[in-house]
Amino acid sequence: MKLQEYQSKILFTMYGIPVPNGRIAESINEVKQISEELGGRVVIKAQVLSGGRGKAGGVRIAKTIDEAEEYAGQILGKEINGLPVRKVLVDEMVSINKEIYLSIANDRISQKPVLMASSFGGMDIEEVSHSNPEKIVKRVIDPLLGLRDYQLRDVAINIDLDRAYWQDFSTIINQLWKVYVDCDASLVEINPLVITSEKRLLALDAKIVLDDNALFRHPNLSDFRDINAEPPTEIQGRKIGVSFIKMDGNIGCLVNGAGLAMATMDIIKELGGEAANFLDIGGGANSKKVEDSLRLILSDEKVKAILINVFGGITRCDEVAKGILSAFNEIKTKIPIVVRLVGTNDEEGLRLLQGSDLIPAKSLREAAEIAVRLAGEVIS
Ligand code: GDP
Ligand code: MN
Repeated sequence: MKLQEYQSKILFTMYGIPVPNGRIAESINEVKQISEELGGRVVIKAQVLSGGRGKAGGVRIAKTIDEAEEYAGQILGKEINGLPVRKVLVDEMVSINKEIYLSIANDRISQKPVLMASSFGGMDIEEVSHSNPEKIVKRVIDPLLGLRDYQLRDVAINIDLDRAYWQDFSTIINQLWKVYVDCDASLVEINPLVITSEKRLLALDAKIVLDDNALFRHPNLSDFRDINAEPPTEIQGRKIGVSFIKMDGNIGCLVNGAGLAMATMDIIKELGGEAANFLDIGGGANSKKVEDSLRLILSDEKVKAILINVFGGITRCDEVAKGILSAFNEIKTKIPIVVRLVGTNDEEGLRLLQGSDLIPAKSLREAAEIAVRLAGEVIS
């Protein structure tokens, strides 16, 4: 679960990580009021669960209260990176001398938390990580020992941080580590952590991602969940009881099991295609769930082919085939649907599909090849 910037900043404040003065607003009137309180020079920041707001026009610096109102009007109720903006954070404007990148994240390779820092913080950090990865300092943290002082000094030296800031920098990283551990986060990020013209360190942006599997330990944090802020398709996915994540490609995927869903996306990619989504329908996929899932996939206009990949273990393939058929008859789409059924009662299942417009495939590879070809034909 991703937290909004303003929510992350509430946590930062509780842990003593300095953030600019600011408050959340839902209307232009509130923006005006807060801007007055903060002295007129403010930053209006769209609260959406996506990065890159600055480049998308979701972060605007206002020099006067009138400007603050004007920008709030341009952001509130609009979309930033495809997400509706219902709230803006109004922060006091800060003059920046330097932007630093700082984060702690789960590192899959070392299977440990990793501390990352760079003196090239700000909006171009993704670009830096591609073109100059050496400009981002990474230090693995032993979860049992925690952050060590020498690691903090090592990082400070390697990002060429002026010695005058080492003390505050260390405090901020230590507190960031506490947030990460206490909240069961998978990511805590400050980008940018700025050196202000008054020579203070300040977290100008804040991003926290919590581990959903540990949320039950943090009832107070789950209250932060802002249903309205999540992508509508993902909300719909939760409603119909499937795990759904939208992607950018044009091949819809309907799979039983998260691992199999990832393997399906991998093979699509390997064969030169792009998946439109991740969808794990779970065990015992009944026809209602298949139908709801197909509708969800088809609500994405980019989808040009659908790949259904089901492995029948406890789930019986003939049952799934019936579900697919009745869903298919119900929806009547022209989008080609390739079906790969393997496992318990698969022959029976495939027999049921004969005579329909569904395209059966014997293996995952064959199914993916057909789906990639069909999706590609539409493009050309
Ligand atoms: P993001 O683009 O979604 O990561 O949003 P950020 O909160 O990081 O803001 C983007 C950029 O806006 C930052 O990198 C800063 O350069 C700039 N910015 C944000 N707040 C302030 C501020 O108070 N003063 C100044 N001068 N720039 C700011
Ligand atoms: Mn940022």
